[in-house]
Amino acid sequence: MTFRADAAFAAGMDRADPLAGYRERFHIPRHGNSEEIYLCGNSLGLQPRNTARYLQEELQDWQRLAVKGHFAGRRPWLAYHELFTERSARLVGAGPLEVVNMNTLTVNLHLMMVSFYRPTPQRHKILIEHGAFPSDRYAVTSQIRFHGHDPDASLIELVPRAGCATVDSGDVEAVIAAEAEQLALVLLPGVQYYSGQAFEIARLTRAARAAGAIAGWDLAHATGNLPLQLHDWGVDFAVWCNYKYLNAGPGAVAGCFVHERHARDFDRPRFAGWWGHDKAARFRMQPGFAPMPGAEGWQLSNPPILALAPLLASLEIFDEVGMHALREKSLQLTGFMEFLLQQRLPDAVEILTPQDPARRGCQLSLRLHSGRAPARKVFEQLEQRGVTCDWREPDVIRVAPVPLYNTCGDVYRFAEILEEVLRA
Ligand SMILES: *Cc1c(COP(=O)(O)O)cnc(C)c1O
Repeated sequence: MTFRADAAFAAGMDRADPLAGYRERFHIPRHGNSEEIYLCGNSLGLQPRNTARYLQEELQDWQRLAVKGHFAGRRPWLAYHELFTERSARLVGAGPLEVVNMNTLTVNLHLMMVSFYRPTPQRHKILIEHGAFPSDRYAVTSQIRFHGHDPDASLIELVPRAGCATVDSGDVEAVIAAEAEQLALVLLPGVQYYSGQAFEIARLTRAARAAGAIAGWDLAHATGNLPLQLHDWGVDFAVWCNYKYLNAGPGAVAGCFVHERHARDFDRPRFAGWWGHDKAARFRMQPGFAPMPGAEGWQLSNPPILALAPLLASLEIFDEVGMHALREKSLQLTGFMEFLLQQRLPDAVEILTPQDPARRGCQLSLRLHSGRAPARKVFEQLEQRGVTCDWREPDVIRVAPVPLYNTCGDVYRFAEILEEVLRA
């Protein structure tokens, strides 16, 4: 793809964009008389126009039918979570037995570690990346302590080489091989939230499993961003949230994947609840727990219908577009942004995210060399000019042009405004 650094080129790209119509399926926040340049879909995706309708329908069924809504609603609540199974499965490259939407990401991570982190005196270590998202780090260290181990001895953090913001897969493999005897779990991000680096899931899953460890993935920044093939890649478990690239609303119910090879692992310890019990026998209310095969067997409670309804609006769009078409456009948008920044701001902006498009998703993480103005001021001025992105201490902004609703025009305007602010 060859780009040109002018507004007419951006407009031409947008006219030729086969996915251009999808922007109209979302509410775009306003800034004064125009639309915001919203580059924060990696943090909270925009609201699809159908969300309110789906939510309203469940409120109506509750008004009209009350308890009978479990069976007689237009989407009976008893099986409500099953509405998402096939669509989530397609999104992450899984079979329907392998996915469920439940709880929130950190809760699911704990539930997965209860089952898949079974430390022994010999094999007790967990490998994560340096600078992991704090919630993941808290979850992992608390699990290590819960099992009577010491994070100082049991937690390994992958530190990038000096001067690098990202880690090399070969280096990860070397650590896995060196720790093979003691490694219980490798827990890495599909896309690292800070640097935007996409990890090589298939390759590192192979390495973890060859070392006798479980391969778990946090796909918070990968689902809805990159095409995934979790089943074929042999991933043991994965968790993700549905409010970032998936646009299912703040604190949305999250996704969870458990590989088919564990589907009938009924002896594996797990925390149980009635929604994980064999659904044919659930309402016999018997004391013995008989888990459903597959990911649904990890459910605890009856699903929160009002929190799940927005996921319908989200997944119908993803299912219609498909991850491959989205990725095509995403490569263009992010490539165009990188090109403009390199052309116009080579000294003022350092891109921390890998240059190789195969090693990143939508997001670029930018370190601002803003001269006399503190970087934080630059960020604030961007906001005042109608650009929404996000700030990470001490001097990084993360910008994510999202292919469902961002345009090359957004990207072009962003680069122009950033240049004006930095040169002011
Ligand atoms: C967004 C994100 C979370 C958020 O966790 P919640 O349980 O949804 O609050 C956790 N981990 C990573 C890597 C994230 O990017």
